[in-house]
Amino acid sequence: MIDSAALLRLLEESGALKQGHFLLSSGLHSSAYVQCALLLEDPLRARQIGEELAALLAPLEPRSVLSPALGGLIIGHETAAALGVPFRFTERAEGQMELRRGFSLQRGERIVIVEDVVTTGRSSGEAASVAEGFGAELLAVGAILDRTAGRGDLSVPLVALMQLDLPAYPVAACPLCEQGGEPDKPGSRSRAGSS
Ligand SMILES: [Zn+2]
Repeated sequence: MIDSAALLRLLEESGALKQGHFLLSSGLHSSAYVQCALLLEDPLRARQIGEELAALLAPLEPRSVLSPALGGLIIGHETAAALGVPFRFTERAEGQMELRRGFSLQRGERIVIVEDVVTTGRSSGEAASVAEGFGAELLAVGAILDRTAGRGDLSVPLVALMQLDLPAYPVAACPLCEQGGEPDKPGSRSRAGSS
């Protein structure tokens, strides 16, 4: 089992843990940002982390994994592979999270949602709404990193490999903005981006 210290070391080694002033996809500002794409850049490492997350989720006996694109794609796929179950993803179409490409879920299907980082749980919540629309049974949200620090708003348990309590502020309370700084929006550009 990978412990928090080992995972933190991997985050640092891979350059995934960045310091600065960031606008997170949740809308919060932060002095730290985790680019999980860099953590998962090495396919063998991605596979290992997927196996670790799968081991935490296996007792729930999910029949499939659902991930919100893009952030959840790699870890979701690796976790599903380790669980030996199908993998599907939701994506935005005109701002609305949807299951496309012929994917569907069965009524009562036991699923887990898998993401890279959960900060507010917004994208997991959107994927959960999609699953609900199909009548699937959502068991838990699995993630590499839990950044919620109690702010999360999920209706199911959050199962994470590591809790990372990095500072995150509403814009109005951001000390970095107060100092006159402009946040970077990491997004998916250059070597500084993800969800
Ligand atoms: Zn700010």
